[in-house]
Amino acid sequence: MSIRSMFAVNAAKITGLVCRKLGRQGVTWAGKVALKLYPGILKELSSQVREKIIVVCGTNGKTTTNNMLCAALEAEGKKVVCNHTGSNMLNGVVAAFVLAAGPGGRIDADYACIEVDEASTKHVFPALQPDYMVLTNLFRDQLDRYGEIDITMNILEEMIRTVPSMKLIVNGDDALSAYLAMDSGNPWVSYGVPEPVVESGLHEIREGRFCKRCGERLSYRFYHFSQLGDYECPKCGFKRPAADFCASDVEVSDHIAFTVEDRRLEANYKGFYNVYNMLAAYAGVRTAGLTADRFAEMLKGFHPENGRMEQFKVNGADVVLNLAKNPAGFNQNIAAVMQDKRPKDLIILINDNAQDGRDISWLWDVDFDLLENETVWSITVSGIRCQDMRLRLKYVDIPSELIENVETAIDKKTREGTGNLYVLVNYTGLFGTRNILKKMEVNG
Ligand SMILES: [Zn+2]
Repeated sequence: MSIRSMFAVNAAKITGLVCRKLGRQGVTWAGKVALKLYPGILKELSSQVREKIIVVCGTNGKTTTNNMLCAALEAEGKKVVCNHTGSNMLNGVVAAFVLAAGPGGRIDADYACIEVDEASTKHVFPALQPDYMVLTNLFRDQLDRYGEIDITMNILEEMIRTVPSMKLIVNGDDALSAYLAMDSGNPWVSYGVPEPVVESGLHEIREGRFCKRCGERLSYRFYHFSQLGDYECPKCGFKRPAADFCASDVEVSDHIAFTVEDRRLEANYKGFYNVYNMLAAYAGVRTAGLTADRFAEMLKGFHPENGRMEQFKVNGADVVLNLAKNPAGFNQNIAAVMQDKRPKDLIILINDNAQDGRDISWLWDVDFDLLENETVWSITVSGIRCQDMRLRLKYVDIPSELIENVETAIDKKTREGTGNLYVLVNYTGLFGTRNILKKMEVNG
């Protein structure tokens, strides 16, 4: 340990503290300050992790999977460094280590669970050298952020190859992730759901319909959602790998349950995509060599954080807040909302700030027509691009009410609505809407 790292750690901790006092999220600033003072800080701190470093990458489900993985390791008695808040670019990753370090500048941890933005692996991997990578899926993200999915895949594969001993834990139902694992040359295992569970929307966007190995159109036995399913290339033999961690007897209703390795895992939240998140975290713990004996117990107390199917009570109504930032995520959110057969109101908030992607044409790839259902009593559009959202709904003949201010919308719908409100927001809407709901919950 160097004086320099001790200095950087403490300066960063103070920065984090000051930012919080000012009511800001100080995480990335703390990372920025630490890196400025000592560019080698990440390498030095992460090398002090006693056992393994696990990173979680993939378009959707990173934060939930990573936090669940962390909770599972803690349930096994491990001390874990984790970027819980989902700050997953270089500054956020550095901050997770710096804020976990003691004042002497040392890390006391058995494991690190770090969610890393795919494009940021370029900056993070040279210092971090992970032992495992969980890859949740590869979907098209907000269009203008990183460009096409092929670019993301190329970056990932290049970075995976820089750590040849790193074992990949991939979603085998995703042809793109499976191909990446096979092509990388790194050791890998897969998880998956081998039989159909829910009906997949007919018009859903499917990335990777063509074989990455030979270019032939893949043939599918069935789709789960988006391009996830049981696929095979009729020309070169590339196909869905038999899963090492295989979910069977899957139940998806007001809760989720499935069996893996003769264990029944259950969770109290909705959405088929959460089966994958649970399976990914479980496969991660098992692949790291742990028994996962406490995994089922851990799930009982686990709540996906930061507006992932987060529940509130406002003006006597049940409110569920969920993040939906790209077509695959949005379609899964809609499916989860429609699994609730009770009458419901819906608020959809769309912003186009830098972090959301300025280009919101991805809205046209979401299956909003599924909201045409007698249980959906009303849809309100909010946020900076509420007009565009309203137009998108109008295109499929679904009327909506326009209330740009989300607080006003929530207040109205919780007072006058069905008592069952879903609020779907994209990225920059999440933090503010969550604060509004917390405030209204206290006042109401
Ligand atoms: Zn092929």
